[in-house]
Amino acid sequence: MDISLLHGALKEEKKFRHTQADKAVFVDLIEDWSQASIFPLSLREKLNQSCPLEIKAELSHGNSKKGAVKALITLADFEQIETVLIPQADGRFSVCLSSQVGCPLACVFCATGMQGFTRNLRAEEIVEQFLFWARYLKKENYGRIDNAVFMGQGEPFLNYEEVMKSIKILNDPETFNFGARRISISTAGIVNGIKRLSGEKLQVNLAISLHAPNDALRSNIMPAAGQTPIRKLLEAVDNYIEKTGRRVMFEYLLIKELNDRDEDAIMLAKILNKPLYLVNLIPYNQTGRFQPSSPARTARFMELLERAGLPVTARRSSGQEIDAACGQLAGKRKKS
Ligand code: SAH
Repeated sequence: MDISLLHGALKEEKKFRHTQADKAVFVDLIEDWSQASIFPLSLREKLNQSCPLEIKAELSHGNSKKGAVKALITLADFEQIETVLIPQADGRFSVCLSSQVGCPLACVFCATGMQGFTRNLRAEEIVEQFLFWARYLKKENYGRIDNAVFMGQGEPFLNYEEVMKSIKILNDPETFNFGARRISISTAGIVNGIKRLSGEKLQVNLAISLHAPNDALRSNIMPAAGQTPIRKLLEAVDNYIEKTGRRVMFEYLLIKELNDRDEDAIMLAKILNKPLYLVNLIPYNQTGRFQPSSPARTARFMELLERAGLPVTARRSSGQEIDAACGQLAGKRKKS
């Protein structure tokens, strides 16, 4: 499927056909034009030729019906990306979207980072991931998508235009009418992207992957993103908060004996003790040479931050069984 072909395929048709086609694809969630009963048969057949709706995907489920589900989507050029459906404890559904094929940032703890970068995704390819899960939830009678997070493969702020364009498509009342407040962008700390987002009139949520309390450690584990000093990164965040009045989530991965010591927590508490800053501690999903912090260490780390007065949450890990947890998305791509 390539929805960017849709309006081209309808160019000889009247305007109302475009509106009907958008509704059929994005609201009624049809998977084949034969289901678009408001269209004449000849048009349905034409559209099935010029703009087929099938999304080629392989699903992986864990053992439990309630766990995360991963889809490996094959794009028109045969590149593959992964996207994940994450059922939340409260019955809501989040989808985790990829923004690039691979990633150029090479964070050492991240499976995608280790596979290198191939190309940016187009907005339509991002929207297709969302559409895939919308169809899936409808078929399974589970309901609708509640949240979308740009925490799949790639760095969203290195593909800024297409990511924004995809958000605008999701927002469009004629398509998904999916509010920006339900969307979060996670960045490894691309300052220019944070600056640009500050100027958008969009209520998307911003998350920063910090993962270290000082530049030395950060640049060790995030060799590209860590080149930007934390001070500069926080300046951009403060400017974003000043302009938007919105809260910012700092993600902190807990890796055994690497960034989980008491002094790390104390240093982190010092730099993140500001209004509208939130900290989210993320369990490390093993993808290579590191180990996750123990539950006791995690609890201690959290306690030190709380004692310093920081609002802290700890993320429940989901999706390990199917290698679909954060940072585990590597697909079946060849190792080059
Ligand atoms: N490039 C963006 C978005 C993709 S990664 C970013 O860095 O934020 C989404 C989140 O998963 C980030 O916080 C990332 O650091 C985290 N992550 C990467 N590898 C992980 C792993 N092995 N276990 C848990 N989280 C991981």
